[in-house]
Amino acid sequence: MEDNKFMTLDGLDGYQFEELIAKIMKKRGYVNIVNTQKSQDFGKDIIMDDSKGNRIVVECKHQHFIGRPIVQKLQGAMNHELAQDSSKTIKGIIVTSGNFSKEAKDYVKQISQDVELIDGSTLKKICRDLNLFILNGKVQIIINKSFENITEFESKSLSKSCYSKIYGHELLKSTVKSAVQFRPTCYIRYHVEFDTHTSVGCVDSYQNSGNIVVDGVDGKHLSQELSEFLYKERFSSAEINEKYSKNKTPYEFTENDIEEQIIHHIIDEHTHSVSYRGNNNVSYTKECIPKKRDIDLKEFIPLYVPVWSNELKISKYNYPQKFYVNGKKQLFIVDSLKICKICDKIQQTYQDMSLCPECGRIVCSSHRKIDYLDKKTPICKIHAKPFKLFIQKKYFASKNNLKKYELIWNKLKWWRKVYEDKILFSSIIIVILGGLYTLLNFLGVFPIF
Ligand SMILES: [Zn+2]
Ligand SMILES: [Zn+2]
Repeated sequence: MEDNKFMTLDGLDGYQFEELIAKIMKKRGYVNIVNTQKSQDFGKDIIMDDSKGNRIVVECKHQHFIGRPIVQKLQGAMNHELAQDSSKTIKGIIVTSGNFSKEAKDYVKQISQDVELIDGSTLKKICRDLNLFILNGKVQIIINKSFENITEFESKSLSKSCYSKIYGHELLKSTVKSAVQFRPTCYIRYHVEFDTHTSVGCVDSYQNSGNIVVDGVDGKHLSQELSEFLYKERFSSAEINEKYSKNKTPYEFTENDIEEQIIHHIIDEHTHSVSYRGNNNVSYTKECIPKKRDIDLKEFIPLYVPVWSNELKISKYNYPQKFYVNGKKQLFIVDSLKICKICDKIQQTYQDMSLCPECGRIVCSSHRKIDYLDKKTPICKIHAKPFKLFIQKKYFASKNNLKKYELIWNKLKWWRKVYEDKILFSSIIIVILGGLYTLLNFLGVFPIF
């Protein structure tokens, strides 16, 4: 009974059953699998090779009680296949979701040919061993693996370490909340190879390979940046910790759905046209379109990606961060520590940012001031306390420092005050230099251009 969760085949027609068996055979390690489809190819539903190079002829029967005549029909198909290539050893498999008669089983024992019988319960056992969940004939994606993840502690430390690069961070403490969600993805590697024929023969031989990464929730292709982050280099995967079992977003699609969608995409992607010269010496253009059978899906890897959502709280402000994790690497998709709380502009690095200890805002360099007295305390433009000299304003982080400076200022000699006001001082210098230049010109020291 427990086996039922591994395989239900409700509502499948014979052809869909045949496709499913081809898929299961692929997972069992058979190669060069050809679904001969509805072609009535001498009773061969599937032809494939095993890893030793033997040719296997498969007969599929959905919901049938299989008697001896089906075995005899398979023998005929095996003989036909042997006639095609006598160098190969030919084996046979009959797969049914039903049962075999005793007569059929006895007959298989008597014959010299190698025939394997797979009945419904054996098929379920095969699915269980392969960890395949088949619901209504479709392969469900049920996995518990993700890219190598970090711990919650490491995730929080990561946010704290980002904060520690911000100027003035030591002036206010941060608290971090951290949660992980596992996002489902599928990686598919494929090869496409086909010839295009016209009345003058083969006009195009095409082959290409590629890979695609699909989101398991919306079926969309992942961005180039995220695909490369995940799959460009070798990666390690790990079992998802049981305490996170509720944080997995389940796959919305079956393996069949995703493959179907991918195949359409590959067909569009690799459709191209060629020009060729006909027998009458006239140029023609032919569209070369790959067929479903020209596409070989070499690898199908379903894997979860950990996505961490962190939130730093600094004073009354919240700073969300969101990033994907692949082992030791992270890809940030949200990082509000790099967004100025005054102008909302995104900055390149944490080093471009400063904290205002008065309000907890993190701001860009054009919205921060440094206390003029202690030359180090940062303050946001909103909370900076200005003190006007003659023309220039000086800014202070606290009223205390402002008052201290006021006293210092009042005691300064007039010429020292002028020097202190950098705007006034440089204006005076410019005026003096300009006057000097005019005077020297007047005296004829410099030639006038
Ligand atoms: Zn700003
Ligand atoms: Zn402030």
